[in-house]
Amino acid sequence: MKITQLRAVQPATPGSPPDWRTQLGQIVVEVTTDEGCTGIGVGGGGLAGVHLVETVLRDLLLDQDPTDVESWHARMCRHTAFYGQKGLVVMAISGVDLALWDLRGKILDQPVARILNETVDLAQPLPTYRTVFDDVETETALDAGHAAVKLHVERFGDRPDPLAIAELVGRARSKLGASRPLMIDAFGRWNVSSTLAVAAAIEPHQVDWLEEPLPCDDLAGYEALKQSPVPIAGGEHEYLIGGFETLANAKLHAVLQPDINWCGGMTTLVQIYELAKTTGLRVCPHRGSETYALHAMAALDPQPLAESPREWFNVLQGSPSIQNGTIQLTDAPGFGIQVAADIWASD
Ligand SMILES: [Mg+2]
Repeated sequence: MKITQLRAVQPATPGSPPDWRTQLGQIVVEVTTDEGCTGIGVGGGGLAGVHLVETVLRDLLLDQDPTDVESWHARMCRHTAFYGQKGLVVMAISGVDLALWDLRGKILDQPVARILNETVDLAQPLPTYRTVFDDVETETALDAGHAAVKLHVERFGDRPDPLAIAELVGRARSKLGASRPLMIDAFGRWNVSSTLAVAAAIEPHQVDWLEEPLPCDDLAGYEALKQSPVPIAGGEHEYLIGGFETLANAKLHAVLQPDINWCGGMTTLVQIYELAKTTGLRVCPHRGSETYALHAMAALDPQPLAESPREWFNVLQGSPSIQNGTIQLTDAPGFGIQVAADIWASD
């Protein structure tokens, strides 16, 4: 079997929220073989990612046997290491890796989750949480049956008011009751002292994790946050297993949150689950109820809690959706998805 075509496109996503990086947004990658089999992946990097896929990575993969996915992942990373290793290049590689995993599943006629774990119970619904921005959305999420909520508090800015955040968190906790998880996400806007002040203020409300309080590259700051009374989470802006080893070995995060469409694809996410096992950390993938991460969560996650999806990225057909607060995979081969033919219209 040989790869005969590799192409990518950034589909239009008119419903994207204004704070989303629409210019460097998600891309769809398609790998086709001489036997007519097609794998579909989603990566990132917008037109820069498309360019990388359709030049450097296509040159590497064209006319090659696609079946040894881990080996191709290593070769793609090695081939781009002088200018890659993090960011846009790895986002593009993620899309190709996921397309190769989709192809692997279709060739074996198995869902990817079953390739990762042959005893996986695909009929088992996974609990989900919704990322919310205010009290109204918290109530809507609970009415819809979600097991937990995460309050996005970026709007409190670079100098957060601990008491105002604690009030918001307290209201959410009283709506959730004592047992359901509650998290908050600061989106990298704070510093060490403001984070510790917020952590002290919210501690009485049983917050399961405080996500990305500092910029993602402030490792010294995260070292200082080991004294936080609330567990620190992060990693949605980290790349490849080496990046996650740095976070895990120094215990900078209690919860690792890789984004499968950015961090290096399924090959990297499997490595991260292994790393978490050996270092005693939890993995909770970013936007985990999207199809790709969901296969890893169903197969490998001892404590699955799938985050609500990027609903504006709606070009995948066949993705499972959240029903009554839970989500369940099908047994369709690969990742079980197709894309609308018209996304290639300008190709
Ligand atoms: Mg986040």
